[in-house]
Amino acid sequence: MLHFDFPGPGKDVSYHNHSDLSDGAASLEAMCRAAKAAGLREFGMSDHWVIPPPEIKDVNWRMDPGKLEHYVTELQKLKRELDSESFTLRIGLEVDFFFENASDVLAELEKWPFDYLIGSVHYAGIFPVDHDASDWAPLSPGEIETICEEYWRKLEGAALCGRYTFIGHPDLPKKFGYVPEGKYLPHAIRLLDAVRKTRGAIELNTSGWFKPCREQYPAGSILKEACARKIPVVINADAHAPAHVARNFGEAAKVLADAGYPAR
Ligand SMILES: [Zn+2]
Ligand SMILES: [Zn+2]
Repeated sequence: MLHFDFPGPGKDVSYHNHSDLSDGAASLEAMCRAAKAAGLREFGMSDHWVIPPPEIKDVNWRMDPGKLEHYVTELQKLKRELDSESFTLRIGLEVDFFFENASDVLAELEKWPFDYLIGSVHYAGIFPVDHDASDWAPLSPGEIETICEEYWRKLEGAALCGRYTFIGHPDLPKKFGYVPEGKYLPHAIRLLDAVRKTRGAIELNTSGWFKPCREQYPAGSILKEACARKIPVVINADAHAPAHVARNFGEAAKVLADAGYPAR
């Protein structure tokens, strides 16, 4: 498994990307070839692995669990074709964390040759935090607070289990603009303490710049706290299309420098 040390890898690698096996728009091959053509030194695919508790029903955005062997085999084949002195293809997954089954899910995934696993949370209870703005619009401030508390409690749980290579899009609930930054900083600090304790890492996910929140995940205030704790950060695009494999990486490097991270 990959492991990152502070400050994290440079902006010529990208590990959080999706194909049409989950909710991406292009094949594994198209994504990997685009990354090589874009001049990235390392590139990893991380389609969605979501094994939810029974009360969560509609997960058609995930990779079909029956496709795991195809996914790994296809990436191994592409790796043989594309790896060179200047390019390395990595095999990863974006794994949804649920307290109910995390150990079983991780034990199953350990049987496969993954280079890394991303620990992400997309549900607070049964509420899909990044699905649609219309899910958030009718909520009261109290309901929003409850959702955020549950979201951050799960993400902290993911960090504390210490088996994900890095934590994905830490402040995702801000996506549609319903959660003010000041509301979640204390939760985020608990997450960062858990990441530091388990010697993990977080990502800077540039896709937030193209969502209603108009900001990378996580916010600059969280990155400053991460830097103070010497937590490694990986810059990722969360690309769902070939044109986006390194989108806004220059801007991301600037945001990290502003947060105190050494130049990369
Ligand atoms: Zn995600
Ligand atoms: Zn993703």
